[in-house]
Amino acid sequence: MSTKSKGVCPFCAEMIMPLVIEENLVRRDRCACPACSEDIYVCRSPGCNNYAKGGEYYDDELCPQCTGNIADIGKATVAVAVFGAMVAKVIKP
Ligand SMILES: [Zn+2]
Ligand SMILES: [Zn+2]
Repeated sequence: MSTKSKGVCPFCAEMIMPLVIEENLVRRDRCACPACSEDIYVCRSPGCNNYAKGGEYYDDELCPQCTGNIADIGKATVAVAVFGAMVAKVIKP
């Protein structure tokens, strides 16, 4: 049985050492929070030791902390795209 590194649970926000419920080779190991016993998965963000929420139909890829960071990057991408469109219009004859 493999063990997971300590990380923050997305449900109860406690620093926990998850219990591995199911080991998966292709998908992520299914884990459970020892504090609130919700299903959690390792966050896919490199270098992040926190956990993402597991759901009945959909499992989060990233922990809430990383999801917030991605949202910021998304906003920046939209701004760049809008700027690019404006520049393209100016360049066009
Ligand atoms: Zn928890
Ligand atoms: Zn993360």
